[in-house]
Amino acid sequence: MQNPTASPFSSPLAPTWLRPPEGDLNRLDGNVWSSTASRTPDGELLLGGVRASELLERFGSPLYVVDEADMRTRAEGAAAAFAEAFRAIGAEVELHYASKAFLSIDIARWMAEAGLGLDVASGGELEVALAAGIEPARIGLHGNNKSRAEIRRAVEAGLGSIIVDSLQEIERIGEVAAELGRVQPVMIRLNAGIHASTHSYLATSHEDQKFGLTFDVARTAAARIRELDSLELLGLHSHIGSSIYEAAGFGAAAEKLMRFRAELLEGGPVPEVNLGGGFGIAYLPSDDAPTLDALARGIAGEVARVCEETGSDMPRITFEPGRAIAGPAGTTLYTVGTTKDVSVPLEGGGAARRRYVAVDGGMSDNIRPALYGSNYCARLANRVSEAAPQLVRVVGKHCESGDIVVHDDYLPEDVAPDDLLAVPATGAYCWSMASHYNYLDRPAVVAVRDGSARTLVRRITIDDLLAADTAWTPEENS
Ligand SMILES: *Cc1c(COP(=O)(O)O)cnc(C)c1O
Repeated sequence: MQNPTASPFSSPLAPTWLRPPEGDLNRLDGNVWSSTASRTPDGELLLGGVRASELLERFGSPLYVVDEADMRTRAEGAAAAFAEAFRAIGAEVELHYASKAFLSIDIARWMAEAGLGLDVASGGELEVALAAGIEPARIGLHGNNKSRAEIRRAVEAGLGSIIVDSLQEIERIGEVAAELGRVQPVMIRLNAGIHASTHSYLATSHEDQKFGLTFDVARTAAARIRELDSLELLGLHSHIGSSIYEAAGFGAAAEKLMRFRAELLEGGPVPEVNLGGGFGIAYLPSDDAPTLDALARGIAGEVARVCEETGSDMPRITFEPGRAIAGPAGTTLYTVGTTKDVSVPLEGGGAARRRYVAVDGGMSDNIRPALYGSNYCARLANRVSEAAPQLVRVVGKHCESGDIVVHDDYLPEDVAPDDLLAVPATGAYCWSMASHYNYLDRPAVVAVRDGSARTLVRRITIDDLLAADTAWTPEENS
């Protein structure tokens, strides 16, 4: 770790993870920004060849911008990385994009064109996938509390897998499939007891949380599934959590699932093992995210080893990356409204200045800092500046002091009202988790590519929200 006081501009308020403001505050670090992000000769941010100012003029502020080429390339790259690692051990591998990260009809089609299937976690996500024309056999349905209506829709549509997360659900799916005269492939979601190193709300494989079945319960589940003529045991599933940067947890989960599979093989086939998603990405220039090649090779090694040790046949392997594909492709653009300096008392006496930079969105378009304490970074988007670095906190316009977009970063100290700010790596779990808190608009989603921009999902405005209010009387208010 670098010494945070290494620069004369370093603030005593800066957290230790924040790099000191050396060098160029206008730089777009390649590990964080989408691959087509660059600056025009006059210093403006270009995404997919389109100027930030043009995007906000045409589509309004704030705005979610998806770098289409970047997202497609990441999907293809992920598929290739896993295919190569698993080809080396003689296994077939398939990727399902975890659509809850960021889904629209076009995005679903990009994933299909890159060769990926799709995972959905609700009836709503399933409708988007079906509207996109995704082959139902390549869709998996997740969820710890699927409704009977969701199950019926999934079985009717002919989904390739339903991932079972309770014993009750086995009966429900079995009944629906029997009624419809279908045999529904199901997987059992296991809680492999892996303590993934991530925020506790993002860890899904420790004991005291709602997801998955323990190996004991899963034994009962497998036996019951095998009893029912309307169900087929497709395999085992594990997703240890999200935003994980270390390979160890994935390898440990793979080992546990493969050993459990070897046991279940005594009672019949278990053709597939799904090892979930959760691969971390860089949100800050100082973040060092593992490459998917390295992770894939590590996991493949573990699968091959257990297969050999247990004398099992090689299963088909599935992964479900979401964030790793969508996250780096997205950038949120904001307009600065106000700035305010506060004087923060220091422990050893004295005080330091923090500049609050308020933008026209906030926790309604990116809840992750408030929900998980996630850190992001920001850059001026409409211009470059050589002004001295100032420690800033980028905040939104909501009625909460926790309404923070970027907890700590350095920006040029001349940042001012009407400047445009860009926050990178917001493609995953931002728009998809957006709310209308304070009746703010849900910003539009725009795809940029080769110098042109088009709307994927339009802005949802106060007119849309009032139209849903049964007491709204447009004639009286026009
Ligand atoms: C959320 C989720 C994923 C994707 O997680 P990422 O961190 O976005 O890769 C995959 N599988 C399941 C079951 C999930 O719930």
